[in-house]
Amino acid sequence: MDVGATRADLSRRPMWAAGFLALVCSAILAFSGWSEWESRNNELRNAEIELSNLARSLTQHVEDTFELADSLLRGVVTALERDDGKPGAIERIQAFLKARKANLGRVRGLFAYDENGNWLATTEDVVLSNYNNSDRDYFEHHAKSADRSLLIGRPVRSKAGGQWVITLSRRWSHADGRFGGVVAATIDVAYFAQFYRQFAVGQEGMISLMSRDGAVLADNSEPDPQVLGRPILETIPYHPASGVLHFPRSGESSERIGFYQHAQRYPFLVLTTRTQEDVLARWKRDALVRLAVLVGLVALVVAIGVFLVKQLLQRQRLALALAAKEENFRLLAEGSSDIVTRIELDECIGYVSPSTMRVLGWHPSQLLGKRALSGVNPLDRPQLQEILDQLRKGAVDEARATYRMRRRDKSEIWVEATIRATRSPDGEIDGFVAVTRDVTQQKTLQGRLETLAIEDGLTGLANRRRFDERLLEEWGRAYRDKTSLALLMIDIDHFKAFNDTYGHPAGDECLHTIAAILADEAQRSSDLAARYGGEEFAILLPNTDAAGCVRLGERIRRALHEVGIVHRHNPSGIVTASLGGAVCRPGFERSAGPASLIDVADSALYAAKDGGRDRMVMAGEVISLPSGTAPATVPA
Ligand code: GH3
Ligand code: MG
Ligand code: MG
Repeated sequence: MDVGATRADLSRRPMWAAGFLALVCSAILAFSGWSEWESRNNELRNAEIELSNLARSLTQHVEDTFELADSLLRGVVTALERDDGKPGAIERIQAFLKARKANLGRVRGLFAYDENGNWLATTEDVVLSNYNNSDRDYFEHHAKSADRSLLIGRPVRSKAGGQWVITLSRRWSHADGRFGGVVAATIDVAYFAQFYRQFAVGQEGMISLMSRDGAVLADNSEPDPQVLGRPILETIPYHPASGVLHFPRSGESSERIGFYQHAQRYPFLVLTTRTQEDVLARWKRDALVRLAVLVGLVALVVAIGVFLVKQLLQRQRLALALAAKEENFRLLAEGSSDIVTRIELDECIGYVSPSTMRVLGWHPSQLLGKRALSGVNPLDRPQLQEILDQLRKGAVDEARATYRMRRRDKSEIWVEATIRATRSPDGEIDGFVAVTRDVTQQKTLQGRLETLAIEDGLTGLANRRRFDERLLEEWGRAYRDKTSLALLMIDIDHFKAFNDTYGHPAGDECLHTIAAILADEAQRSSDLAARYGGEEFAILLPNTDAAGCVRLGERIRRALHEVGIVHRHNPSGIVTASLGGAVCRPGFERSAGPASLIDVADSALYAAKDGGRDRMVMAGEVISLPSGTAPATVPA
């Protein structure tokens, strides 16, 4: 594995992921910014459309109103000019106007003045001689100009009613063309104000009726001398006849959107405006909520992304560490003198380290895919199978076993294995790893030590320690099983003299020969022949009765005679032995324990010595007489 390349990847991949995340978040933010900007512009466009529709229909309304007033004016002018100078003309005009009063509608009043501004007739109920209108701008205009068209004057305070009015006026002339006077119609500014207030243009929105030169004639607020008759804007274009305006109004922070519409028939225009702030207020509120939600979502995405990138980073680090660890373990496994084996769940070998060559003589490639237990001694296989089954079930995580394995050269070695179950990342057991080492030498050594611990060095029989252990075990067994246990004690006769005569090495040799006879005679696997001490031996005979014990004693005695080791200081001329036997049934008897069995057998042995040696005495039963004579009993 190329660790360097992986390290480079490690730094690059999370960077890519983070970059991608940043790109996605920026794209989302940019898209929603663009979409918000679009919706803002839409809002403005819609406001413009609404304002233009309003301005158009209100222009129409004013035109209709002026049309009505103008038709009245024209009627009065015609009547004045037709009847000019005729007797009763003024009275007829007055009567005409009075008759019209009820049908004036939006028009407040009608007035007729002579060439000096004196009131000739009016719809109002006033004393005519009290008033003169020669000071009015429109009067001066008509007096000076021969133009007979309609004049829309600046708002003025009505002399009759005192309220703010818009005047529409026409000149009337005498038959010779001289200035005859003026006919005027007034419309209350308040009428327009009230009418305009019905339209929703927001708190700051304005609907203004203006003369062509830009002076305000009426608007949707209370009539205000500061506003009326003065221009709102420096210039409002005449061409095109309608259009959108964006302008800051003095004293306002927010820009205004407006739409102006010039009338076709009369020199006025209607301007509808709203502040941008007002138009965008709802959009702003909604956009803020949307922005908050979006920022929240993006923050969430960023948080999740950062978390995932961190995870990625951590995983990569782990993978790298794992790879390095695996590399180390492989080095360890391959450099180790132990065999490291990977056993799959089907118990076939998935990996085995090279040391298998040295330990078992097989090349790793020859073992791959083979059954892991195939080289194990059949006697040890069940034990290992049990371990694998336990590990597979998860009953244990690790187990140790010592067993025999066949090498390639057919020789057998002892190995010790530590076997562990391995788990997949999802926690399932997916196989085993065994570390196996050759323990043949230790095993041999251990065997030797064990033998030394229980064997008598000179004779090869069990030693006294082993005898004592077995006596305890067999006593317990006989007690539990309610069986009998016999003990035979054997002591060589006049052995001191043998040593003295033939030397110590010959004495050893003699002990060795006798031990061989004992081992030979104690044939059952449960029998135990031991060197009890010096030239004294003991044979433990489980499940044996007195007769059996006597029979064995006699066989030993006879065998000694048959071997016939020369011993000239023994009356019989050969080496003989005295034997004392005892039998007990621990399950049925009240006795002091195993020691009492030794004591009783010992007593029988002394009895045999006392009885003249070279004989077998059974405690409580029979005294063995020298060969050829019948055995005799002694008290137990
Ligand atoms: P008895 O017939 O009464 O048993 O007489 P004995 O001479 O056999 O008995 P005693 O207890 O007086 O002598 C035992 C002798 O056994 C003494 C010792 O020299 C000899 N002996 C004990 N252990 C060994 C041994 O390991 N090797 C040899 N060669 N002699 C031993
Ligand atoms: Mg002795
Ligand atoms: Mg002796």
